[in-house]
Amino acid sequence: MLKKSDPKVFDLIKQEEKRQKEVLEMIPSENYTSKEVLEALGTVLNNKYSEGYPKKRYYQGNAVVDEVEMLAEERASKLFNVPYVNVQALSGSVMNFAVYTALLIPLKGKIMGLSLSFGGHLTHGQPQSASGKFFKSTLYTLGKDGTLDFDEIEKQALKEKPDIIVCGFTAYPRVIDFKRFGKIADKVGAYLLADVSHIAGLIAAGVHPSPVPYAHIVTTTTHKTLRGPRGALIMVTEKGIKKDPELPKKIDTAIIPGLQGGPHDNQTAAIAVCLKEASTSTFKKYGEQIVKNSQKLAEELTELGFNLVGGGSDNHLILIDLSGTGVNGAVGALALEKAGIVVNKNGVPNDKMPPFYPSGIRLGTPAITTRGMKEKEMKVIAKWIYEAIEEVKKYELPNDKEARKVAFKEIKGKINSNKNLAKIATEVKKMTSKFPLP
Ligand SMILES: *Cc1c(COP(=O)(O)O)cnc(C)c1O
Repeated sequence: MLKKSDPKVFDLIKQEEKRQKEVLEMIPSENYTSKEVLEALGTVLNNKYSEGYPKKRYYQGNAVVDEVEMLAEERASKLFNVPYVNVQALSGSVMNFAVYTALLIPLKGKIMGLSLSFGGHLTHGQPQSASGKFFKSTLYTLGKDGTLDFDEIEKQALKEKPDIIVCGFTAYPRVIDFKRFGKIADKVGAYLLADVSHIAGLIAAGVHPSPVPYAHIVTTTTHKTLRGPRGALIMVTEKGIKKDPELPKKIDTAIIPGLQGGPHDNQTAAIAVCLKEASTSTFKKYGEQIVKNSQKLAEELTELGFNLVGGGSDNHLILIDLSGTGVNGAVGALALEKAGIVVNKNGVPNDKMPPFYPSGIRLGTPAITTRGMKEKEMKVIAKWIYEAIEEVKKYELPNDKEARKVAFKEIKGKINSNKNLAKIATEVKKMTSKFPLP
């Protein structure tokens, strides 16, 4: 028993369990998996080495693991309606890198993805990431209203001639028009990679359109709205196979021997479990409620005077632009954490502030919806968010870089001892106690 053999680690896990129970976990990329997913993760499947693919392994003793991996592939294939799936990428970043190495070697190709500061992901060609260091990339931005400007994206694609156009984002609150992206990719002869990490659960539930008819490749992490273990799926669509029948093989070899050794078989089993869960009518209702909650929360926040990027939410997330309120995103996120509401600071389109002190906060409803919260709770949460932000309006962050650093430290201390924020946290604790974790 861990409790006896290593009380230190045991205690840390218990502390984290308590934290997850008592707060409103509103980081849109997080979720609470089922007990069954965790059960599959903590099994002897962890002990096996199974480099290669089902029935083509480099190690003996893989008959059972083959069944596990084929089951996960089969379930993903059915759920997302794609002919080919690779379930081995260890997490999201490798999953996209595998696609790039499969398609762009010998390091000549170009990626076109949404800029990080407009809601794109690091792995979509940002210069700080290997995707932008090893490959050429060009980044698009959003229009003035904070939504995708397809005419501009098309112009840029025609000019830059990327080999891969990446769509699917980390901080985009509106529906993604995959059909339009597909048309642009076809026009310039590029592959369309739809990275639906954030919205895979919504697609599975049928509350966001699927990119499968329009994209050549679809990637997703399995631990966000899909509510599975940390992990990833790389899928090739019929359209992708038509463009290049070798795509599945290229992706398989990009994963191993290209980027990885042995897959995490316990993780693969947990992915299989989550995919079964995601194909039920209960999950469909869950997806619908995520969106209803996000829309209700967006509506309430707007009514309270907050400025939302993109004007609202069609999915699971909301991006609040705090510029003009006098509260920096970093300060706002700290205040909310003290109040028991866990969100992340985030850049907003055309942000004048640096990434460490961005002007916005990003929040979402996947995890609190898993706990069973509904519209009624969203109204209360919006009010708490408003009160917490109001409370820290008096803590100003200077513009000067050095002065800001010092001031931020002071503000941190003030937030920590702020009684009104602590009072909200007590109320949050009372509410969350009525919504048990899975
Ligand atoms: C989360 C995310 C990833 C990366 O996933 P990690 O598991 O954190 O590496 C990739 N793309 C998008 C769009 C994401 O939201």
